[in-house]
Amino acid sequence: MALSPTYSLHARYLFPIDLPPIRDGWITVSHGRIVSLGHEPTGERRDLGDVAILPAFINAHTHLEFSNLAQPLGRPGTPFTEWIREVVRWRRAAIEQPAGTDWRADAIRKGIEESLRGGVVSLGEIATLPQTEGDGRYDAMQGVSFLEVLGLADERHDELLSAAKAYLATWHSSGRHPLAGLSPHAPYTVGPRLVSSIAALAAEALAPVAMHLAETREELELLRAGTGPFRELLDDLGAWQTGVIPLGSTPLDYLRLLANTDRSLIIHGNYLSHEEIEFAGRQHDRMSVIYCPRTHAYFAHDRYPLAEMLARDVNVALGTDSRASNPDLNMLSELHFVAEHHQDVSPEAILRLATSNAAKALGMGETHGTLASGKRADLAVVSVAADRSPDPHELLFDTRQTVRFVFRGGRQLFPASDC
Ligand SMILES: [Zn+2]
Repeated sequence: MALSPTYSLHARYLFPIDLPPIRDGWITVSHGRIVSLGHEPTGERRDLGDVAILPAFINAHTHLEFSNLAQPLGRPGTPFTEWIREVVRWRRAAIEQPAGTDWRADAIRKGIEESLRGGVVSLGEIATLPQTEGDGRYDAMQGVSFLEVLGLADERHDELLSAAKAYLATWHSSGRHPLAGLSPHAPYTVGPRLVSSIAALAAEALAPVAMHLAETREELELLRAGTGPFRELLDDLGAWQTGVIPLGSTPLDYLRLLANTDRSLIIHGNYLSHEEIEFAGRQHDRMSVIYCPRTHAYFAHDRYPLAEMLARDVNVALGTDSRASNPDLNMLSELHFVAEHHQDVSPEAILRLATSNAAKALGMGETHGTLASGKRADLAVVSVAADRSPDPHELLFDTRQTVRFVFRGGRQLFPASDC
């Protein structure tokens, strides 16, 4: 729908996130920003019918380069290191495609479009190639593009650090979205010396850092004893180096390094200890933990300690992770999954995971994540059933409901044909 610069949308429910839902409410938008919420419309008026309006969802963790995959790699319950072997095979095949095939750009574009259909315009995206000025891959995306840093061998330290430095220098000078971040991939692919250097570099540049951590029990074994399926995998790939990870290491060692940065995202944290959860909770202004619900289920991990993390004040946000471990990038489906599987968490807290908590995780909290006067008019409009419910969250978490419209900066992006 084409709308004038100032308009009001009517919905059966508005979900401001930091306030209770408003029934039969109007949200007024002017020149891309939210002006007011309530019962008084201004400017052009549109009644959207049986819908709920929420802040556009924010996907705090994905890898868009896998968005061309029709289905996840491996099968449900695949041991994680077997899945990594599949990823390595897939990536080698992708890289060997004929020259002129820009599979990365194609996948990123598809991933951004798919995200939109799931109510998302802002993402925490991990990229293996640095974005460059004017390459256009991320024009339709807000959020953070984290450059993946990968290399366990100690002699690669200087080269990888220089590449990270160059990436931040180029992108920071442009000052536009997506913002630049760094992602030392995981403890089994980046040694603690490089993690420490990346953290110091990011701290100096005020850039966010994202790292996969405590994802599997096998990772904990590698850190503790240098043995197990990860050791076998790294030996097979010729990537293991004795002494690169000190024996007796734990995720807490990495949490301490990342806590030196302005903003860090701990991806997964499936097997963080109580002490580590408490540590993350104490740093909640600067450190977030990203839960990827359906990816977590794909690997049949132990139950995710979501309620414990929230009780310990951890800033938990949701991610889809990539299509290599998830059937799609639909954030509404992630919310439905969490509502069904974590009935010990309140619906209000569940909604925050994909809105205000995720905005805070990516450093966008001042402008995004809630419906409030002055914030950017990034909106997700979700269908709701016409019947009444004492709790409107129940209508929203009904799995039959879908994303009907998505707005960014007041402009309708989805469905595109209506623009
Ligand atoms: Zn990931």
